[in-house]
Amino acid sequence: MRRILVLGVLVAFGALSIAVSGQAPPGPSAAAIAAAKIEKVKDNLYIIAGSGAEETSAFSGGNVAVFITASGVTLVDSKLPGFGPTILERVKSVTDKPITRIINTHTHGDHTGSNPFFGTVETIVQENTKTNMARMEDFGGANAKFLPGRTYTDKLTVGSGKDRIDLYYFGRGHTNGDTFVVFPALRTMHVGDMFAWKALPYIDPDNGGSVVEQPKTLAKVVASVKNVDTIINGHIPVSTWKDLQEFVSFTSDFVAYAERSLKAGKSVEQAAKEYTVDPKYTGYQASVNPMFGGAQPNLEIAYKELKK
Ligand SMILES: [Zn+2]
Repeated sequence: MRRILVLGVLVAFGALSIAVSGQAPPGPSAAAIAAAKIEKVKDNLYIIAGSGAEETSAFSGGNVAVFITASGVTLVDSKLPGFGPTILERVKSVTDKPITRIINTHTHGDHTGSNPFFGTVETIVQENTKTNMARMEDFGGANAKFLPGRTYTDKLTVGSGKDRIDLYYFGRGHTNGDTFVVFPALRTMHVGDMFAWKALPYIDPDNGGSVVEQPKTLAKVVASVKNVDTIINGHIPVSTWKDLQEFVSFTSDFVAYAERSLKAGKSVEQAAKEYTVDPKYTGYQASVNPMFGGAQPNLEIAYKELKK
């Protein structure tokens, strides 16, 4: 999700409170630290949970994967700025091995924010994500040294045997640089915010995202990636390959709805008002938070794309 605006406000507020009180702004809330629990997914693979409801004070960012290899720990994503000490403490509770690598699924600050805490450890992203990160305040000026040192275009494999990790880029969706991180030995894939929750997605056109392309990109994932049964989502607890297939269908149906509405001459507002979640999608809702996704913003983006 996009935290730039919210964080901007927090930074401004923090600066103001320093000016007024002489005190530094507070770090992460106790509720957010407590909610960032480490949970076992499979042998040698854990997640440090993100709270789903990002408007609450318990929000720490996306789900972090902790993959323990022979030579060290690979993290997938790093939550908001300020969560480095919590991530480190959680990792230490399950292994003595050092953190040797970070993979970021995409550019957003709730997935990359604590990268700088881990210094210049090997960091890998899809090449478009590095370009997007270079435009972020968190990685500007003196912090540019924390930009990822390694990029790839379509596919990259690191490690071998049970430590093997496959990184894939299949096209635009949430942004234009979303990586799918597969742990083949564990039949598990971290999909980041390409499937953040069981609701309409949050799409970020400013970072190359596309409502119309997202289901197509996800369909490529389902057609190409083999032998995965467990999905680590951006912001909800672990789900299944079947859930991913269902989400492809849910997002495809939404794009078809946008196309029909546009053809019928309906305004974005009218189409958004009339949109309902098909009851066959059990546990789904239109929006988890009006600030992030929902029918109206997705239709606005879809209309712009479809009119091109
Ligand atoms: Zn995101």
